Amino acid sequence: TASTLPQHKPRILLMGLRRSGKSSIQKVVFHKVSPNETLFLESTNKMVKEDVTNCSFVVFQVWDLPGHLDYFDSAFDSEHIFGGCDALIFVIDSQDDYQDALAKLHFTVSRAYKINANIKFEVFIHKVDGLSDDHKIDSQRDIHQRATDDLVDAGLENLHLSFYLTSIYDHSIFEAFSKVVQKLIPQIPTLENLLDIFISNSGIEKAFLFDVVSKIYIATDSSPVDMQSYELCCDMIDVVLDISTIYGDDADFSFPPERLKEENAFNTDSCAVIKLNNGTVMYLRQVTKYLALVCILREDSFKRQGLIDYNFWCFRKGIKEVFELRKTNKQLTNGENLE
Ligand code: GDP
Repeated sequence: TASTLPQHKPRILLMGLRRSGKSSIQKVVFHKVSPNETLFLESTNKMVKEDVTNCSFVVFQVWDLPGHLDYFDSAFDSEHIFGGCDALIFVIDSQDDYQDALAKLHFTVSRAYKINANIKFEVFIHKVDGLSDDHKIDSQRDIHQRATDDLVDAGLENLHLSFYLTSIYDHSIFEAFSKVVQKLIPQIPTLENLLDIFISNSGIEKAFLFDVVSKIYIATDSSPVDMQSYELCCDMIDVVLDISTIYGDDADFSFPPERLKEENAFNTDSCAVIKLNNGTVMYLRQVTKYLALVCILREDSFKRQGLIDYNFWCFRKGIKEVFELRKTNKQLTNGENLE
């Protein structure tokens, strides 16, 4: 029997000092903005920026934490905000002096932990594209050491922080997000099992289950992930989205461009095959409204496409069952989940 997916979408809060790169991360991951365009993003003066992505598998909010503001004072409903949050990502600009950021990190996580000890705390050591490989390792070690020491000094040994080196200029930001989201899905073993069964019966080398809008992979089969395959699959999603946006059945041009891709065009019948000139085939199929499966296989194996299509059909049925359970649970706890 399949276990259930979370009763509500994973909620992720992105925090950090001003200019650490939060809006850029949000734009690049959830709105398909190219990294270079973030150079011209206007810094908003709003204290709290909130963005809930309804068309994605995850709910995502961004918070600026300028030095002088205290989000735990009575003006903010911190109980509500941290109580309902599954993961808190804290962004630290690695190209800047990170002394202040570390202080704010400590303050934020220790207070949030007291409100909700179940939050997963994730630290993105960001903008590492500007650092040499040695420098990256050194920064990570230094930040890790100092942040953990601070917690131990405060008697918070049980508060666990995870660290990631990220940049919007490569796929590291998507990879890090994928790991963060995967921690929030307790059924990962079930999904991984389904993927393993599917690929071994279909002669497929690697398969990723993607959240289409963000290109976060929420699950993959149990073979190791290599960055190149992941990047290739991300690129395929972009290509298919672009084509669907122009030629898809439901292309509705009344939406602003960034919504267009998310809301329409791509539907549950979407399917695409790309043959590369090195004998590799890429195969994409939509699984649910949010999720698509992208596979990499040899051209020889693709000769049995009928079998693959059939296996995919069984796989999708399995996933749907997992989601049906999720929906039932959701109805039961409806009041809690309505925004
Ligand atoms: P926010 O105030 O935290 O939302 O920060 P912004 O998203 O406005 O980013 C501040 C600046 O950092 C912008 O000029 C971005 O282009 C830049 N930036 C964001 N992410 C990266 C990154 O990964 N690498 C580099 N080199 N610059 C980045």
